Amino acid sequence: MAVEMQSAVQMGSWLVRGRLLFLIIQILGVACFSYIVARRLVPLLRAQRDLRFDQPVARLGKLLKFWLGQWKHPRYKTAGILHIFIFAGFILLAARAFTVLMVGVSQNFVMPGLSGRVGHIYEATTDYAATVVFLCMIFAILRRLVFKPARYAVPPRYGKAHTADAVFLLVLIAILMVADSLFEGAKAAALAQHGQPAELGTVLSLPWIFKAALASASISVLGSLYFGAYLVHEVTFYFLLCYRPFGIQFHVETSLFNIYFAKLNKGTLKPVRWGVSDEHLDEVKSFGVKTFEDFTWKHMLDFYSCADCGRCSDNCPANAVGRPLSPRFITTKARDYAFRHYPMFGGSGNGKPLIGSVYSDDEIWSCTTCGACEEECPLLVEYIDKIVDLRRGMVDDGNVPQSLQKPLKALESRGNPYGKMERKRAEWATAKDYQQVCRLKTLDKKNHADTLYFVDSITSYDERMQSIGRATAKILDHIGENFGILGAAEKDSGHEVRRFGEETLFMALRDHNVDAIKACGATRIVTADPHAYNALKHDYKDVPPVEHISQVLAREVKAGKIRFNPVQNRNDVYAYHDPCYLGRHNQVYDDPRAVLDAIPGLKRVEMTRSRDRSFCCGGGGLMLFYEPKEEQRMGVKRVQMAAEAGANVIVTACPFCMTNIEDAIKVAGLEGKMTAIDLAELADQQIARERPTVEATTASEIQPECVAGR
Ligand code: SF4
Ligand code: SF4
Repeated sequence: MAVEMQSAVQMGSWLVRGRLLFLIIQILGVACFSYIVARRLVPLLRAQRDLRFDQPVARLGKLLKFWLGQWKHPRYKTAGILHIFIFAGFILLAARAFTVLMVGVSQNFVMPGLSGRVGHIYEATTDYAATVVFLCMIFAILRRLVFKPARYAVPPRYGKAHTADAVFLLVLIAILMVADSLFEGAKAAALAQHGQPAELGTVLSLPWIFKAALASASISVLGSLYFGAYLVHEVTFYFLLCYRPFGIQFHVETSLFNIYFAKLNKGTLKPVRWGVSDEHLDEVKSFGVKTFEDFTWKHMLDFYSCADCGRCSDNCPANAVGRPLSPRFITTKARDYAFRHYPMFGGSGNGKPLIGSVYSDDEIWSCTTCGACEEECPLLVEYIDKIVDLRRGMVDDGNVPQSLQKPLKALESRGNPYGKMERKRAEWATAKDYQQVCRLKTLDKKNHADTLYFVDSITSYDERMQSIGRATAKILDHIGENFGILGAAEKDSGHEVRRFGEETLFMALRDHNVDAIKACGATRIVTADPHAYNALKHDYKDVPPVEHISQVLAREVKAGKIRFNPVQNRNDVYAYHDPCYLGRHNQVYDDPRAVLDAIPGLKRVEMTRSRDRSFCCGGGGLMLFYEPKEEQRMGVKRVQMAAEAGANVIVTACPFCMTNIEDAIKVAGLEGKMTAIDLAELADQQIARERPTVEATTASEIQPECVAGR
């Protein structure tokens, strides 16, 4: 090609001879991409409803934080920072890529707003952006091929690793950056040869390097490079665009929508069917997810949006102890199913049950609904709702593990999973020796109190956990609370029943409790059980506001109403274990720690996995009755973490955690070296009972029959 360069404008003529070709590539590229996306939308159009069009402001806030702000990425430092650079580079380069594409068909095209000085600044910025993205690609390829972080590995039972696909895409992006930079560099070198002001002041950027390297190249070579770089850029761009929807890179397109439509309220569970009220549930023919099309459109969007980064599985306690569950593969297996059964051409869908073909029973029952996977996912992919929906489907088909059948029957007939008599529910509080310390009211239509202490089943019936109930009542009494319990009128909160997919039984338990709560006239509820707390807060409607005892304690400590005696053994080192349904699902992290830190002389350490990265103890409620296949107990792993942190006392704030952790201390052979105590028990034990006169007066006026600690 012998093209005479006279001016910058003339350079556009280098592309003129390819204009028709470029136009054809662009039309084909856009048409193919539109077709592919349309085909990818087919299953979403056949999916179940999902009402995600509410609260636009909150959703926009989420988008700004988690998509534009890349909020979760730095939780994994190296990969996170790398991703932030790549993401920022892509955002910056979007207008430049569009301009480059347009120049091929309209040589004088300039993006509106990007002419003159602003345009020069933008050019310079994007020269560096392209360079940074290129370097990130090289580093990312090395990570995938050389350093190979363990979380990317795919165990054989879950299929093949996606390394080749990931590396291929990284290489394509690197080529795109090189082509873009060569295009700019050749242009700048040609301009410089013609004595035109070289705009490339971007020292050490890729375009700058290309310009320097091509300084003595002939005009004809520069013209060829300019043309060739353009063609490579255009072909690579459209190939990438059309290839991404076939693999993990589809998240580049879908993540924005996935994050905008993400779940807004933690701790909640999706209804059986969006838009179908409880009263009309009996009209629903089939509960839960049985076939792929039973998922909601948002859950299918989740499948498309997963970047296969493995962070969810890396934090999943079930995966850590060798249960047959790894959340990442819940997603990738469903995505593979969608790609297989909704191909680019021909008919779609096969309607076969997912359990048995895509997922195994054990896989779905292994989840403790701890929420660690969702907390970690940078793309806000949801798991708990999907797993619960799959369980609903299994329960609807009568496919319930043998070990769960008895407790479920007992819950139905007696309102507790142990099958114990209703009248024995309040025995922990009516024992004579305890009555001398704190006489508890039993609330009903006639006996009212301001505060209801909702005890729930495990604390009511399990002898060890009854101590948590007694401590909680004594604390409420100490702060002068006018409170009582429902006694025999209380039934299990149904929290775990619901999460095990037994929606109808949950509804019966909930309705019974709601009636009893309303009848007792309480204006607020306190509980020491995070599962009951979560149920009352999120699963129940029209009940008074609920607090966990740790929140009450923290407030009273702050107000000076509770003072603690110093710990007796100053050598003890305490570690607080965050219960999943208090921490991750309800963000109560600081209050329990504030209470511990208010105890004089108490030495506290943090486990590496704490707060929103807390490691589930093994799960509560019905999980206590389920024996999953596993290599190690979650609780054992947890007490080992506490030991590694240097603690010899684990404090928790949940009766289920207490059950699992005490059991794990024995299994781990740490008896005598490690103990566990509930926050309420510890607080009750340490409270300085001699109360200031004014509070004593107030308390006795409010609740004359309570005599705790006086
Ligand atoms: S909720 Fe917990 S146990 Fe279930 S998949 Fe997620 S991380 Fe694993
Ligand atoms: S679900 Fe989220 S955390 Fe898990 S692999 Fe996919 S993108 Fe990563």
